[in-house]
Amino acid sequence: MRVVICGGGVIGACTAWFLRRRGIDVIVVERADVAAAASGKAGGFLARDWCEGSPLDALARRSFAIHAQLPEQIAGDWGYRPMTAYSGFVAADGHPRRDAPSALGWLSNGVIIAQRIGTMETAAIVHPKNSP
Ligand SMILES: Cc1cc2nc3c(=O)[nH]c(=O)nc-3n(C[C@H](O)[C@H](O)[C@H](O)COP(=O)(O)OP(=O)(O)OC[C@H]3O[C@@H](n4cnc5c(N)ncnc54)[C@H](O)[C@@H]3O)c2cc1C
Repeated sequence: MRVVICGGGVIGACTAWFLRRRGIDVIVVERADVAAAASGKAGGFLARDWCEGSPLDALARRSFAIHAQLPEQIAGDWGYRPMTAYSGFVAADGHPRRDAPSALGWLSNGVIIAQRIGTMETAAIVHPKNSP
C-alpha cells in the first residue's frame, strides 16, 4: 500500500511515522516546510486528561502514553519530561496581592496560582534538548 499525506505538521509527520513502522510506503507533501505552521509554534505541552468527557478522551490518553515511549525510539535533539502544571495570572497594578509572594517560591511576587492543572502523571512537555 502507498499513502500520500498532505501536510508536514505534527499530525502528518506522526501519521507517516506510524504507517512507516508498519511497512507502508508514505509520501508527505508539504507546501512550505516541516512544522511550518501551528506545529512549529506549539509549546510542546502534553496533557492526559483534558479531553475527559469528550469523544477524544480515549485518543488523548493513548496519545499521551505513546508520547512517553517516543524518546526511546526516536533519537534527536529533543527531550521529553513529565511535569507539574499550574494555571494562574499576574495581579494587575493596584490588586491587593500585587506584591504578595507567590504560592510557588520560584515565581515572582504577584503571580497568583489559580489551580494545579496537571501532575507528573498527567502532564508532560516535549522540549529542545538542553533547554532548562
Ligand atoms: C502558539 C501555539 C502554541 C501551541 N501549543 C500547544 C501545546 O503546547 N500543546 C499542544 O498539544 N498543542 C499546542 N498547540 C496546538 C498544536 O500546535 C496544533 O494543534 C498542531 O500543531 C496541529 O498540527 P497539524 O499537523 O494538524 O497542523 P499544522 O501544524 O498546521 O500543519 C499543517 C501543515 O500542512 C501544510 N499544508 C496546508 N495546506 C497544504 C496543501 N494544500 N498542500 C501541502 N501542504 C499543506 C502546512 O504548510 C502545514 O505545514 C499550539 C498552537 C499554537 C499556535
